[in-house]
Amino acid sequence: MTDTHEPQDPTGDSRIQRVPDAILKTLNTFDAHTRRKQTCLACGYVGIMGIEDELHPWWLSWWCIALVTVFGSLFMGAGLVIGGILIGLRFFGEFDTLVLVCPNCEEAYEQD
Ligand SMILES: [Zn+2]
Repeated sequence: MTDTHEPQDPTGDSRIQRVPDAILKTLNTFDAHTRRKQTCLACGYVGIMGIEDELHPWWLSWWCIALVTVFGSLFMGAGLVIGGILIGLRFFGEFDTLVLVCPNCEEAYEQD
């Protein structure tokens, strides 16, 4: 007999995939998580990952924004506008590099 029954899902909905407790526990140590599923290239884990850090490009760093704003105001009169745009890009742009951590093997990844 090769009749091996899968354990019945108590919710009765097989579309819901339970995340193993050990992985949930690791995921809960992160403040932020990916919205989409990621694949870990080290262990093959597929699912959401913890976000350890967000890296901004140098031209969106605070010192750069401050410099552009100050010098722009002094010499071009448009510094506040440019500074405002940079601040907007920093918060709403898609320029950040995320440092993802696999909850299964704790390998860290950078993702643009
Ligand atoms: Zn992994």
